[in-house]
Amino acid sequence: MSLPDALANALGADRVSTDPAVADAHAADWSDAPRCAPPLVILPRTPEEVVRALAVLTQYRQPVVVQGGLTGLAGAATPQAGEVALSLARLNALEAFDTIGGTVTVQAGMLLEQLQTHVEAEGWFFPLDLGARGSCQLGGNAATNAGGNRVVRFGTMRERILGLEVALPDGTVLPMLNRVTKNTTGIDLKQLFIGSEGLLGVITRLVLKLEPKPAAAQTALCALGSFDAAARLLKTLRMRLPGLSSFELMWDDFMLAACDVARLKPAFSTRYPVYALVETLGEANDDAQRALEEALGDALEAGTIDDVIVAQSLEQAKQLWAARESVGELLAATRPHAAFDVGVPMEEMERCVATLRARLEEKFAQQKHLFFGHLGDGNLHVLSGPYADEAALLDVEALVYETVRDAGGCISAEHGIGVVKRAFLGLTRSDAELDLMRKLKTAIDPSNILNSGRVVP
Ligand code: FAD
Repeated sequence: MSLPDALANALGADRVSTDPAVADAHAADWSDAPRCAPPLVILPRTPEEVVRALAVLTQYRQPVVVQGGLTGLAGAATPQAGEVALSLARLNALEAFDTIGGTVTVQAGMLLEQLQTHVEAEGWFFPLDLGARGSCQLGGNAATNAGGNRVVRFGTMRERILGLEVALPDGTVLPMLNRVTKNTTGIDLKQLFIGSEGLLGVITRLVLKLEPKPAAAQTALCALGSFDAAARLLKTLRMRLPGLSSFELMWDDFMLAACDVARLKPAFSTRYPVYALVETLGEANDDAQRALEEALGDALEAGTIDDVIVAQSLEQAKQLWAARESVGELLAATRPHAAFDVGVPMEEMERCVATLRARLEEKFAQQKHLFFGHLGDGNLHVLSGPYADEAALLDVEALVYETVRDAGGCISAEHGIGVVKRAFLGLTRSDAELDLMRKLKTAIDPSNILNSGRVVP
């Protein structure tokens, strides 16, 4: 029996598509990895159907790429030649909501924004947040261990996950749907699958931890004279404001390009070297706003910040976030680009940024190099482009990753390795670590059918 027939038999004909238009919609993620339309797209509706599909694929030794919302920036969800696609898009149910304990059990294809909206209606809050919230799936967030704008207070996706259900390539199910915060019953196997980019298994269900919904957000945009001033401001705000939930840094070149691409009026009439977008989440009373204003007022007086705008309404807060939120448009406008999400230890950050900027401007004078990042997490983004040819892209990647290695950092702090960073993983992971990764992959997926060729060089 042909593979499409075997899959249709196991799942039902409407779960399997060979329609070129469907294939085209599943041909690429958000990265610049080359598009490749899969010959067949599997669209299961339940976790059980995912398991049945994997069992058939293993039987046929058919390579498969796992796809969530396709917003990944590392090319791991882009099909490679000969792979069929397994899309989680139809697995989007919220299965259980413990409104007393503050946990939800969801299927992996539920969109991040859907969950955020749903739980807020019950007074709860899912704090993971990123620009792709309207398209990325919770399974994809787990598989990439997504970070985003509020990690400084709430941690990455890993910290939100209490339990996972995972289907292994051979159709074995790991029902690790733990719902308690403390669980010390042996090796915590779910950690193997968080951030492993679909290499070891397909996440089908998640149990997620919620937070009480903050009654209000306070937002401010600070203009600063240097990176050093920004680092000092971060330290002060961390000490003084327990509700500090975001500290997003944008260098002037990023701000200029963001205002240009999103047609925004610059917030300040003068240009400054660096801007910090600050958010606190907490009570809906004047105290929180006053605490933020006092801390920023003191920083202004001490000369740490040069100017500041504190939002007085939700609308104004949205305007202050607009430049930071224009990353999607910037990514589209600089294609073909190299989009970096490196991690750099705080004490090395200033030197690393200066070295990177000097080297990039010297070697790639025709391109734009935009610097921004989640400073509270030591996560630096550089968007560099456009590049006309593949060789130049490899050169710029080598330049950035070697500089980051020399600073004691890591080549990805949130987007993952996928295919676009695979050749560089050895710069910041040892041979022994890479060897263990390969052994784990071989032990769990001996036929090497699942997301083959990603992550591990
Ligand atoms: P996909 O792109 O479909 O897949 C990503 C990887 O996960 C692939 O390896 C895929 O095989 C695997 N995968 C997907 N679903 C599953 C599953 N159910 N089981 C096993 N493996 C699976 N990331 C951040 O961390 N922080 C940010 O601030 C951030 N901002 C972004 C802003 C924009 C505009 C965009 C486009 C992306 C941004 N990202 C950010 C990238 C981020 O990785 C993704 O947005 C998101 O986490 C990926 O989810 P997805 O469902 O789209 O996954």
